[in-house]
Amino acid sequence: MFQQAPPTLGNQYDDDRVLRSYLGHVLPGDVMEEVEESLREMGRLAGADLYELQLADRLNEPTLTQWDAWGNRIDKIEVTPLWRLAERIAAEHGVVATAYEQTHGSLSRVHQCALAYLFTPSTDIYSCPLAMTDGAARTLLNSGNQELIDRAVPHLITRDPNEFWTAGQWMTELTGGSDVGLSETIAKPEADSKSFRLYGRKWFTSAIASQIALTLARPEGNPPGGRGLALFYLETRDEHGRPRNIQINRLKDKLGTRKVPTAELTLDGTPAQLVKGPTDGVRNIAPLLNITRLWNGISAVSLMRRGLALASDYARKRVAFGAPLSEKPLHRDTLATLQAETEAAFHLAFYVAELTGQSETSEILENDARLLRILTPVMKLTTGKQSVMVASEVLETFGGAGYVEDTGLPVLLRDSQVLPIWEGTTNVLALDTLRALHGSDNGLAPFESAITRCLEIVQDSRLADAVRVVRSALDHAGRWLADAERAGPEEMEGGARRFALTLGRTMELALLIKYAQLSHDCAAARRFASSGIDLIVDYDPNDVSDLL
Ligand SMILES: Cc1cc2nc3c(=O)[nH]c(=O)nc-3n(C[C@H](O)[C@H](O)[C@H](O)COP(=O)(O)OP(=O)(O)OC[C@H]3O[C@@H](n4cnc5c(N)ncnc54)[C@H](O)[C@@H]3O)c2cc1C
Repeated sequence: MFQQAPPTLGNQYDDDRVLRSYLGHVLPGDVMEEVEESLREMGRLAGADLYELQLADRLNEPTLTQWDAWGNRIDKIEVTPLWRLAERIAAEHGVVATAYEQTHGSLSRVHQCALAYLFTPSTDIYSCPLAMTDGAARTLLNSGNQELIDRAVPHLITRDPNEFWTAGQWMTELTGGSDVGLSETIAKPEADSKSFRLYGRKWFTSAIASQIALTLARPEGNPPGGRGLALFYLETRDEHGRPRNIQINRLKDKLGTRKVPTAELTLDGTPAQLVKGPTDGVRNIAPLLNITRLWNGISAVSLMRRGLALASDYARKRVAFGAPLSEKPLHRDTLATLQAETEAAFHLAFYVAELTGQSETSEILENDARLLRILTPVMKLTTGKQSVMVASEVLETFGGAGYVEDTGLPVLLRDSQVLPIWEGTTNVLALDTLRALHGSDNGLAPFESAITRCLEIVQDSRLADAVRVVRSALDHAGRWLADAERAGPEEMEGGARRFALTLGRTMELALLIKYAQLSHDCAAARRFASSGIDLIVDYDPNDVSDLL
């Protein structure tokens, strides 16, 4: 009787041509030698032990126990076996720590992101608590609050699993996740006026099993709006493991990320400390969001890569109409398009990792600091959309099997769908991109010079058409921006998403071209160049009114 061989994974580092080639270009030879073993080991874990446990853990979900047998409110969260192992492996392998040890200066961020990229697809979004842990460490370090730095940062960046803490980030309230200036949580000062107690409701709090959280609240008497909020540090449980005046009302019943315990909370006098001043909380939490947005992009690329690794393997095993799918021209063409999209996203996410690393070691030039400010939202929104598209197509490459839960495939799509939503939706980040550009006179200049740096090395004539596509999209983006500025806020806001996605895809193509030139492998750049780079269209606001 016919038996279909399932898709399997090998060492996820050794099998990843794009990752190895990229690292070979950006890391000096001695650094590559030093980091390669850690990546190969993570690639082995991701393709073997972790992946096997992930499949076995499929039906497990975190649980919330609100009361003990004697009527005490305990609000205990239990995560699944995969997450317990993921926490240990993440600490021991330095999936956060590597960025702070800075053994290789700014390139440590690239090394860390490569570890996260390999680790993420086999650990069911354990990247979520790690992203917030990393972001909290960066925020506390930037805050200059020595007491909190000494208290928390060593736990956040340790490699000892027994000492390791994770952090939550509690911003979203019922009033809004995008418009957090509407937050209703109040901070009442204690007698020493140094510490506060928080009262309010937080509506989406992921990784609720974390030991600490950074959160926003309005000190009593502060004005409404974002400026009146302050950034607070809190520890979630006391020395007996009891919640510190925090009630976990329920865990969200979500489409995906089901291993992530995302809770609704009531803060009822939760002790908290100011991180940095009694106002400007939204501005002060920005370092955390920059890091979690980088993680979001790395996660997007890693899920795309995982889907393609499985789809490519399956195509070699699945026979239809007399030959393996891997020999069918149309199936090959479909996979090639997805591969180009994935490589494009990969280079953009890792470029932001490089710039982030430079900004953390003060190696960054002023122009590149402005570029990083523009590219962080652009990268997050672009790769988030790409991951959903690729995951959806990957499922289709498996036919019916892609729709069946115990293949372990549908979770790729469900988990990808969160990436354009949390840490800033596509629209919200598109508007943020416009704000980033308005920080200076010629806002697009850092972006344009980054594109020029990619293109100026090109000699291979096979890349000529792709170079033309980049130049034309960049030119169109510049013209649109100038026209929209003249036309007014409605045109500007209305076109922001198409504009930001065009910037993202243009930068991706320029980076693909650069690495095509360096590796003499032009296929991804040539294919991606014809995959819709310039998405800007002129639209009449009246059409929008007619349509709605
Ligand atoms: C699984 C999951 C886990 C989460 N974990 C956390 C967490 O740990 N901590 C936390 O703080 N939050 C968390 N969130 C919340 C998340 O960050 C918010 O859901 C998100 O920021 C959007 O906010 P909202 O849900 O209030 O939507 P809204 O802000 O109401 O947005 C609704 C829609 O309106 C659009 N929109 C909003 N403003 C504009 C505008 N000016 N112009 C055009 N369009 C606009 C948005 O793009 C969106 O499509 C989580 C969410 C999910 C799904």
